[in-house]
Amino acid sequence: MEIFRFYTRSPLRNFTYILHNPELGKTLSLDPYDSAPIRKFLEEKGWNLDFILNTHEHADHTSGNEGLVNLYSPIVYAHPGAIGKIPHATHPVKKGDRILASQNSHLEILDTPGHTFCHVCLLLVEAGKRKAIFTGDTLFNAGVGNCYRGGDAEILAKTVLEQFYPMEDEILLYPGHDYWETNLRFTLSLDPNNPSALEEIRRLETFAPDEDFPTNDLALEKKINVFLRCQDPSSDLKQAVLQKTGQSWDPRLPKNFFVSLRTLRDKW
Ligand SMILES: [Zn+2]
Repeated sequence: MEIFRFYTRSPLRNFTYILHNPELGKTLSLDPYDSAPIRKFLEEKGWNLDFILNTHEHADHTSGNEGLVNLYSPIVYAHPGAIGKIPHATHPVKKGDRILASQNSHLEILDTPGHTFCHVCLLLVEAGKRKAIFTGDTLFNAGVGNCYRGGDAEILAKTVLEQFYPMEDEILLYPGHDYWETNLRFTLSLDPNNPSALEEIRRLETFAPDEDFPTNDLALEKKINVFLRCQDPSSDLKQAVLQKTGQSWDPRLPKNFFVSLRTLRDKW
């Protein structure tokens, strides 16, 4: 699968992706924000647009649908609960469905409620191996999505703990927004000596989001993302969160730690 990332320069720092399966000769746009740069890119490549998938119903993930449907009439996929909410979405997808699928490569749908209740992620599988995850507003570099526009932090905690914690370290993360630097600063506000987070802050200064933006694997994310450390947080991290929230947690309930982190991030 060929992956192309577009930084949209939107106020919310959205990313749109184009995924092209050369075995099929077909192309999908994930979370199109603006149709114009996608049209330009497709014309340069000489490609049609066969599919759109919107990870969820928020307008910053769907605003390019109208222009692209008028130009290319693609099939538009979304969570069943988002059909009727997303412009032109007609084809519901459910957990385990495969799209843009050829013999060696496909995208598998994950049902990932929390940011909203109609949110899906896409897992790229090639030659039987899980290679990359497109996470919309579920998981970001060094953070997770907020839950105050139609979501629920406890449900997001369950999704991340059950579906993302078991994922292999080698899987690459492609999120829906560039909140990397802000999220790293949040990590450092709780874990100021985190060597990986300090190194990433320095590394980020050398990249612009629309240039050669680096792509992290989950091994790195498990170090710099406090929301991926809820199962066994270090005593320093626990102490920092306890100090800021006044709450302590039952270590058997990592979900509660996650929700405390989300509440802190909302106010941060
Ligand atoms: Zn959203």
